[in-house]
Amino acid sequence: MVSLTLVRGDITEEAVDAVVNAANSSLLGGGGVDGAIHRGGGPEILEQCRALRAERYVDGLPTGHAVATTAGRLPARWVVHTVGPVWSRTEDRSADLIACYRESLRVADELGARTVAFPAISTGIYGWPIDDGARIAVGTVSAAVTAVEEVRFVLFDEIAYAAFETSLRDARDR
Ligand code: ADP
Repeated sequence: MVSLTLVRGDITEEAVDAVVNAANSSLLGGGGVDGAIHRGGGPEILEQCRALRAERYVDGLPTGHAVATTAGRLPARWVVHTVGPVWSRTEDRSADLIACYRESLRVADELGARTVAFPAISTGIYGWPIDDGARIAVGTVSAAVTAVEEVRFVLFDEIAYAAFETSLRDARDR
């Protein structure tokens, strides 16, 4: 069973096999985690993203899908780019958010990764409420069938960290 841990901090500093990027479908960079990963990792990541766009994802990486590149100058070995859903008040898009965690773990398995760091996907620029985002993240990863041994959720601020702590406690009590 995969072991879940929580860290407060910047995901680009994690020395894990794979860090997951909350990317957008262009794969060409953005704000938040995406910006930090490209800034920290350097041009090597963007070059591979450009090649993926040209060869495999001409229309962009669809929401809920995941694809890997190397990690450039980051301490991790790989970056798994996934595209979270934009929060909607009128439409339930949680299946897409679940797919991001599942697909990222599937890609991590393909790479042979044993340690994976996730941000709280969709809870920044994409507006997903943090409590619900944390519940989906913890629930999906704990139920996943994977060879990954440790999943580290790396939370940028105190509110996100507290939301993940609560979700983890709820999952353990169940
Ligand atoms: P999205 O577009 O999927 O919402 P964001 O990158 O805007 O992605 O935000 C996702 C989450 O990651 C937010 O909770 C945000 O506070 C957090 N975040 C932003 N930068 C970092 C970072 N360097 N390391 C870890 N988490 C981060």
